Amino acid sequence: MSVDLDEEEVFEDVRDRVDYPMRRLFAEYGRENLFQFVIGFVSSVAARILDLLPPLLLAVAIDSIFGEQQYSLWLVPQSWLPESQIGQIWLTVGIIAAAFLIGAGFHWTRNWGWNSFAQNIQHDVRTDTYDKMQRLNMDFFADKQTGELMSILSNDVNRLERFLNDGMNSFFRLSIMVLGISVILFSMNWRLALIALVPVPVIAFFTKKFIDVIQPKYADVRSSVGQLNSRLENNLGGIQVIKTANTETFESDRVDDVSEDYFDANWDAIDTRIKFFPGLRLISGLGFVLTFVVGAFWVVGEPLGPLSGELSSGAFVAFILYTQRFIWPMAQFGQIINMYQRAHASSERIFGLMDTPSRIVEDPDAEPLAVEDGRVEFDDVSFGYGDEPEAETIVEDITFDVEGGETVALVGPTGAGKSTVMKLLLRMYDVDEGAITIDGTDLREATIPSLRQALGYVSQETFLFYGTVEENIEYGTFDADREDIVEAAKMAEAHQFIQNLPDGYDTKVGERGVKLSGGQRQRIALARAILKDPDILVLDEATSDVDTETEMLIQRSLDKLTADRTTFAIAHRLSTIKDADKIVVLEDGAIVERGSHEGLLEEDGLYAKLWAVQAGEIDELPEEFVERAARRRSQVDADAEAEAGDDD
Ligand code: ADP
Repeated sequence: MSVDLDEEEVFEDVRDRVDYPMRRLFAEYGRENLFQFVIGFVSSVAARILDLLPPLLLAVAIDSIFGEQQYSLWLVPQSWLPESQIGQIWLTVGIIAAAFLIGAGFHWTRNWGWNSFAQNIQHDVRTDTYDKMQRLNMDFFADKQTGELMSILSNDVNRLERFLNDGMNSFFRLSIMVLGISVILFSMNWRLALIALVPVPVIAFFTKKFIDVIQPKYADVRSSVGQLNSRLENNLGGIQVIKTANTETFESDRVDDVSEDYFDANWDAIDTRIKFFPGLRLISGLGFVLTFVVGAFWVVGEPLGPLSGELSSGAFVAFILYTQRFIWPMAQFGQIINMYQRAHASSERIFGLMDTPSRIVEDPDAEPLAVEDGRVEFDDVSFGYGDEPEAETIVEDITFDVEGGETVALVGPTGAGKSTVMKLLLRMYDVDEGAITIDGTDLREATIPSLRQALGYVSQETFLFYGTVEENIEYGTFDADREDIVEAAKMAEAHQFIQNLPDGYDTKVGERGVKLSGGQRQRIALARAILKDPDILVLDEATSDVDTETEMLIQRSLDKLTADRTTFAIAHRLSTIKDADKIVVLEDGAIVERGSHEGLLEEDGLYAKLWAVQAGEIDELPEEFVERAARRRSQVDADAEAEAGDDD
């Protein structure tokens, strides 16, 4: 399986389903922020128009105040204008000052409009995407790498924000600029305007070429930076292995290699970029020189063959100032197109994620699960991970029932399917065949929150959220009193060590917090389940990480906890489950034995052998069991290999 996915390839499967992502973005999220959009747009137009005024007034000043022409302003009746030169100067200066002042106001409202438009949308998109994503079924998270999902929720959303803010802002600013300046230049002198605009198509052509060339180079850069990050992340995670295996030099060389790939890819892109921008400058410079020469000849009245003409010095200055401002925006359009394309790809990925269907779908007629006795029945249940019909069946024909209040233990070698059976009960996955019922209600007919509320689950892999110990115990219950929390912690044999932490129940744990041992984490998770007081309890190797002594102590509390509660327990240490009402022995995804501890010992099958090994009565399992386990193992490995082969 490749770790360093090119981000363009991520979610290829779902991207195809997303039509017109940008249109959808505006339809679904833009509408709510229409006010900000309108403010941004109107202010952009007004600010630009005001920006374009000063050179025009400068031209008027040169020609009429300092020159010979009559003082006149566009759209203003002649009778309103002052006669005296000083009056004209003050009026001109006044208009220019007002243009700057009002312009500054519009610049502010423009930025307010675009920024709030972009910020609101990025916030809404991110929270919506997260909300949809966390409701997807577990298969999805097993398939996708965390990094991929993080990159959508952070990079892609940020890229959208950048486009909505900078991109759209620049787009309108530049469009108005180009349009406004063209109108002014053509109305002043259309022939010189044509000459001044000669570089425009040339620049447009080169910009297009530049984008075509640079785009794949940027893709290379992104992919190599991804590889570099994966390598660094992997090495930092495995630093202990690197040290103990004495492979520092080997790893340094590997980092050197990927860093060099990144260097090469980046340099290739930089090389193109640093040639392009001076090139643009050259073209616009040539245009400038051309306009200057022709304009200057016209001002002084020198003939220039077929290009002869005339021009006032004021108009000449205005032309020079406007062409300067005109050329650069043309080159920036390329960047905006680039931003748009990236935003397009990002919203494809975002909507692709949002549109991913969940395999676990709640029946529209589902009703809240009402647990009375807590009787659970597995009826001929079969299941395999993965969507494909040919996916290997992991558990087959599982049939057993548990009366309300009983404790059932699932026992068997690793990989037998015990956890899978429990995940089906939690409806992390739906059964392929058969049915699971709680008090006669098929799980698929109950609402998902009510089902999860009824079940308490403590697994081998305990996860603590960043926060205090108390918050972690309370997680999912939320309105518990400190007293109840302490009570639950005591039952889970966690109270004592919690009290010894620097801040007791207020000690921060989890990432960046106090590090707890595996056993301590398990006890907190157990306290969480005890506090929740669920109708049905699932303990999947819940005490595997605690020492035997603590386990014995916890066991006493657990006995109280499970006395009148339907409980499923998976445990390797068989001593912890020998008192269970029922023991179901799984091997190879099928039930091979069932009964009580004593009954199973008498049967002298797999359970009896496992028990004998743990009790130290025999040294190892008889050949037949070991052989079966080995066969199973190699089959799993072969499957995994075949799957990896498919991915390459
Ligand atoms: P046990 O709990 O008895 O050790 P599991 O139920 O965890 O066994 O696993 C049973 C089989 O299912 C194993 O072969 C394992 O590789 C496979 N398996 C478990 N989880 C997944 C998954 N998310 N996707 C694919 N295969 C899985």
